[in-house]
Amino acid sequence: MKLHVLDCGAMSCDLTWLLLKPGRTIRPRAERDRPVEWYPCTTHAVLVETDEGSLLWDTSCPRDWETRWIPTGLQEFFPYDQVSDEQYLDAQLGRLGVSPDSLDYVVLSHLHFDHAGNVRMFAGTGARLVCNDKEKEFAFGYEGAFDGAHLKADYEGLDFQTVSGDTEILPGVTLIEAPGHTVGTMAMKVDLPETGTMIFTSDAVYMGDSYGPPATPAAIVNDLTAWYASVEKIRSIAERSDATVIFGHDAEQLRSLRTAPDGFYQ
Ligand SMILES: [Zn+2]
Repeated sequence: MKLHVLDCGAMSCDLTWLLLKPGRTIRPRAERDRPVEWYPCTTHAVLVETDEGSLLWDTSCPRDWETRWIPTGLQEFFPYDQVSDEQYLDAQLGRLGVSPDSLDYVVLSHLHFDHAGNVRMFAGTGARLVCNDKEKEFAFGYEGAFDGAHLKADYEGLDFQTVSGDTEILPGVTLIEAPGHTVGTMAMKVDLPETGTMIFTSDAVYMGDSYGPPATPAAIVNDLTAWYASVEKIRSIAERSDATVIFGHDAEQLRSLRTAPDGFYQ
């Protein structure tokens, strides 16, 4: 079993999107003139190779973000402008010698624009596209081209298989239902023989500062009560399994990880 973290560079954004924290993004009067803090909102994918099959977790942002995101306006708030040519998802897979048609599963933590941006690359390859059932129902159910950070251009017309509840999709790889950020957000738990357990939270927990304790929410939360419950669910699973928790958009943490193509976990 081998796990590769693919560092796909970063969007740039006002940290307030990610962290509503007094003293950090929410300012007391003494700091009313201090400028907003912009943050490298890192984005990653994870490749898991097992004897029973291979799985890609999330697909990051697309190369054509600046035009594709125009209907949403998000290209102005989350420009994907801190990325080198070798950091785009297709290049990262290429450097590992992985072609899109060699994968068994492509699992989306949720269908936001910065996670489903390259899922179309896997259409018709034989890889099964997987998301949570409630995420699919929402993402295909709204009227119009986009709703918040869901953008139909990313995924419309693709055939998703769904999972519901916590699901072991490959031996040692479990998808954990963690709604709140969106209705069908999932985290992924991977039990590695040497490293131990790693939990990838995706946007169920943006960064270490969000995890706390206490948990600190963000500007984009579909259901705040569900969000808090999911953070504590992840925390209790992590404590029971003595897991390393990898957050969805934590720049400092991502820099501390072993990343592809040279670094991996076993
Ligand atoms: Zn998201």
